[in-house]
Amino acid sequence: MADRDGVIWYDGELVPWREATTHVLTHTLHYGMGVFEGVRAYNTPDGTAIFRLQAHTDRLFDSAHIFNMQIPFTKEEINEAQRAAVRENGLESAYLRPMVFFGSEGMGLRASGLKVHVIVAAWHWGAYMGEEALETGIKVRTSSYTRHHVNISMTRAKANGNYINSMLALQEAISGGADEAMLLDPEGYVAEGSGENIFLVKDGVVYTPEVTSCLNGITRSTILTLAGELGIKVVEKRITRDEVYIADEAFFTGTAAEVTPIREVDGRQIGAGRRGPVTEKLQKAYFDLVTGKTSAHAEWRTLVK
Ligand code: PMP
Repeated sequence: MADRDGVIWYDGELVPWREATTHVLTHTLHYGMGVFEGVRAYNTPDGTAIFRLQAHTDRLFDSAHIFNMQIPFTKEEINEAQRAAVRENGLESAYLRPMVFFGSEGMGLRASGLKVHVIVAAWHWGAYMGEEALETGIKVRTSSYTRHHVNISMTRAKANGNYINSMLALQEAISGGADEAMLLDPEGYVAEGSGENIFLVKDGVVYTPEVTSCLNGITRSTILTLAGELGIKVVEKRITRDEVYIADEAFFTGTAAEVTPIREVDGRQIGAGRRGPVTEKLQKAYFDLVTGKTSAHAEWRTLVK
């Protein structure tokens, strides 16, 4: 990743990719307090457009606020930084990674006197789990690692440190022959994937966990809107793992994972064992929206030029 052409927006300037480095005593590297976003830009008939840019920027600022990190830029500047990162790298479609982190001014946990830095990188990243997964679905295993408790790490924040839990769960899932993990909350109810929100479909109704242990996903919120517009009923509630086993369909959502069907959980086939009709409908509506195949929700697509 570090060795490629292009530029990265770094504290207000576009710097050559290979020179976008930081010191090994950077505070965030040691203790994990930093916040970030994952954003996508898609090629649309009007040009390359960032999907739900403002929602991602708002969540980045909310995440920073939760940790008392003062971002030394305005939201408008961070929006512009993201547009520039895509545009100046000549990308037609892209994954964007804005991140806010502490500098190397001190090593104490007090975090006083630390500078707050911001970067935005953008590069081409295709389907997170491969094109095939979007059609055939993936195999999932319930994790032995519990998802965050609301009073241990802050679950409304997309925080760097939260992802050690995600990585443990994903390592375990992959070593057990699955593609992704399903994490349960501290009370044993279904929370989310390592980097995705989860949905299930039963008798035509779509269910997803309430936002407590899981991240308040922007794709999740987009799917809730699309389902409403398609006349599909959605219920946000506590879900047990065996409700997922007996669901007609299940799928993950996320900026990276988009809408990824789940065909198997813990060795049990979900529904017909392939992408179900409701999942397919929502997935198609999602891709039509992000790629501007529909004129609906034009306010969610910000052109980079
Ligand atoms: N949960 C976790 C743990 C994630 O990392 C992500 C990806 N940001 C999501 C859910 C989905 O969030 P979004 O749709 O905003 O990308």
